Amino acid sequence: MNCLFCKIARREIPSELIHEDTEAVAFRDIHPQAPTHILIVPKKHIEKHADLSTQDKALLGHLHEVARTLAVREKLSDYRLVLNNGAGAGQSVWHLHLHLLGGRNFSWPPG
Ligand code: 5GP
Ligand code: ZN
Repeated sequence: MNCLFCKIARREIPSELIHEDTEAVAFRDIHPQAPTHILIVPKKHIEKHADLSTQDKALLGHLHEVARTLAVREKLSDYRLVLNNGAGAGQSVWHLHLHLLGGRNFSWPPG
């Protein structure tokens, strides 16, 4: 699959993985929007949230479990999880990923 995050997950593009298991990888965002900005990426290529199916239920739960574990590791008591679906919502990489953001205060509503 000619996809940036598939290539990072397969280690074809060198990148410092801060987490890896059979289902997912995590690495720091190249343009961090907060002191902690980690991307949690399933190894399975799923283009966007809207493409998830019932069979991905456990995988989606797993991504959240990884996010929680990394939040603890980063010592974040408060953090924000973001999942952009579609260009209009800010998605720019077409491989589903969860943003874990922390280390500063966040406003609401988001931009
Ligand atoms: P999206 O806009 O799709 O929700 O998030 C994509 C994120 O991937 C952006 O925050 C962007 O900075 C990050 N990103 C894009 N290319 C790379 C890359 O090559 N390496 C890393 N570590 N992050 C990337
Ligand atoms: Zn992919």
